[in-house]
Amino acid sequence: MISAAQARHADVVVIGAGLAGLTAATRLAEAGLRVLVVAKGLGSLRLAPATIDILGYEPGLVGDPRGALPGFVAAHPEHPYALVTPQLLDDSVQWLKEHVDFCAYVGDPGTNMLLPTAIGVPRPSAVVPETMASGDVRSSVSLVIAGLRELKDFHPALAAENLQAASAAAGRDVSARPVLLNAPVGSEVDLSSLALARRFEDPAFREAVAAQLRAAVRDEQAIGVPAVLGLGQVAPVWSALQESVGRPVFEIPTIPPSVPGFRLASALQDRLRRAGGRLLLGAAVTGPELRNGDLAGVRVQSAARQSARTCRWVVLATGGLASGGIDVDLSLRARESALGLPVSGPGPGAAAFLPGYFDAHPIGTIGLRVDKALRPVGASGEPVHSNVLAAGAVIAGARPWQEKSGNGISLATGYLAADLILEEAG
Ligand SMILES: Cc1cc2nc3c(=O)[nH]c(=O)nc-3n(C[C@H](O)[C@H](O)[C@H](O)COP(=O)(O)OP(=O)(O)OC[C@H]3O[C@@H](n4cnc5c(N)ncnc54)[C@H](O)[C@@H]3O)c2cc1C
Repeated sequence: MISAAQARHADVVVIGAGLAGLTAATRLAEAGLRVLVVAKGLGSLRLAPATIDILGYEPGLVGDPRGALPGFVAAHPEHPYALVTPQLLDDSVQWLKEHVDFCAYVGDPGTNMLLPTAIGVPRPSAVVPETMASGDVRSSVSLVIAGLRELKDFHPALAAENLQAASAAAGRDVSARPVLLNAPVGSEVDLSSLALARRFEDPAFREAVAAQLRAAVRDEQAIGVPAVLGLGQVAPVWSALQESVGRPVFEIPTIPPSVPGFRLASALQDRLRRAGGRLLLGAAVTGPELRNGDLAGVRVQSAARQSARTCRWVVLATGGLASGGIDVDLSLRARESALGLPVSGPGPGAAAFLPGYFDAHPIGTIGLRVDKALRPVGASGEPVHSNVLAAGAVIAGARPWQEKSGNGISLATGYLAADLILEEAG
């Protein structure tokens, strides 16, 4: 019989259910530790394209992220990648590949592909679902970009025109021709990407789309479609469509919600549960539980209830500004939302924003400074708690939107957090 106190105890509490938190939690649970993930929301995974972008720009376009990292880190010693070795980066990518079962993830940290976005901009990505890889436009290629009339937020004409123009401006010969298909959905005129993804799992629906594609394609080499080719087992849906159309088909991530993001989040949550980890969603961590000055657990607010969860270690993977891990008020006073840890970045009176929308705004680097063991540190450089490790976008010093490094940082530091705890746990 487990006592109430035992039920409230975990070896590790992971705060946050994004890529960093789920990576750390799943690894730790698989190693036999009792793990509880507490997350107030679902994180960025379901919004973002689910590609592992390691380093896309430094600020010039990067061809080999692994090879570029030493120079990048030397120029940015405060960057989270300074905490990660190339070997660890490779290991984390390999780990992810082994933990995704809806389709294979392909590519490696040594090469960036260039994959079209929904607005046609070629985007550098290193490790991607196999369903996206044949959209690589690094070399000359002729493509069809196919949309579905019922998916209102994907415009093949816009994507094709921009893709051609952006490729030509960069000296690459890419031709892209738009086509608009009708999804066989009767009188439904407006479908979400998630609803369409479920429909694609129906062979009759898929074949009706494939027939239109066969009729539309001329001598193009590959066909780009919005990323809606199934929610569960994606590889069979994608393979069947390619076979029926007779040429490579690639998915193009849509605006949020992201079907590829849903797949990845569900796969990782499933692996966590299968490894015995527990997931408490819709619950916010509101402070530390201290005993004699040491962190002995966290306070959790779930609906109207406050409770304490005790643990030996905490992994703080709260995603920074984007996911409420850090709150900033109008006068730029910043607060780390879970444990009240010191925040580094532009404070009151500092210049936090630059004039241009796409500028590298100083506010973007806000986060927690950590030591080599990922422990958040105070102004003196000393760790605030010996048993709290930070991972992912909550760590200060990166500009993921400019660098195209977000998921690479979260995967590698989530993986590293688990390594460090496992080492200490023996
Ligand atoms: C729309 C969009 C597009 C993106 N596109 C790309 C891209 O193309 N390439 C790329 O590499 N990156 C991209 N990113 C960035 C990338 O997704 C993130 O950098 C990365 O996923 C962050 O992962 P994380 O696990 O660190 O944090 P998150 O995924 O943000 O997860 C944070 C978690 O912490 C929880 N949380 C926060 N505070 C608390 C609290 N007090 N108590 C409990 N839980 C808490 C949140 O609810 C959430 O579950 C994109 C992000 C978005 C939003």
